[in-house]
Amino acid sequence: MTEISASMLQDKDPMKLDTSEISAWVFDLDNTIYPAHQSLFPRVASRMIDWIEQNFKLEREQAEALKTRLFLEYGTTMNGLSSEYSVEPEDFLSYVHDIDLSDLSYDKELDAGMSALPGKKYIYTNGTVLHASRILEAYGIGHHFEFIFDIFASNHLPKPALQPYQDFLAQSEINPKQAVMIEDMARNLEPAAKLGMQTVWLMAEHSWAKKGATEPYVHYIARDLKHFLSDAQHVLTR
Ligand SMILES: [Mg+2]
Repeated sequence: MTEISASMLQDKDPMKLDTSEISAWVFDLDNTIYPAHQSLFPRVASRMIDWIEQNFKLEREQAEALKTRLFLEYGTTMNGLSSEYSVEPEDFLSYVHDIDLSDLSYDKELDAGMSALPGKKYIYTNGTVLHASRILEAYGIGHHFEFIFDIFASNHLPKPALQPYQDFLAQSEINPKQAVMIEDMARNLEPAAKLGMQTVWLMAEHSWAKKGATEPYVHYIARDLKHFLSDAQHVLTR
């Protein structure tokens, strides 16, 4: 499995990023805008299991096993449900994203970090616009983003399928050579790098998120988004 060495972290230090040429920043949402330890995605995952349990009349453990299999085989649980069971995305996604966010509040550090980044900012998520905007608004950072490119905009082709990355670039009209993509799932950076973007992987614990982390398409590695934003500020002000 993937092991990140100390020398790799040094080679891929975000402080080496040349920000002078960058005019666009593309952020994943889940486990990127907020860190994995905030445990928002497990809330979504738990509602996915609820939905499968209720709609397929399964025991909890069976529902969980099915969800895990579909996620690993199809990239998203939704993609697996629609491929194998013809589930309609709208119903499923609005149910699973209806999570409690009452413990989130305005994040001054995140807001300031985003303000300090010059250029346009976007969210590119395998989730939905509704889910992303609720989280961005809870942190008070929604105003930084030009638009949210979601699973509907992706025609239900989750990252790392190449086509939606091309669609995203066409819609945003950004020059990939002047753009940076920031993600916790390393393999989602492969198409971004292939299209000419610079890539930043936010270190993650899960094996599915680490997969690909040692590949050359990961250009920079940061501990989490706030560390990355702080590094970027140092680069910008030196
Ligand atoms: Mg993510």
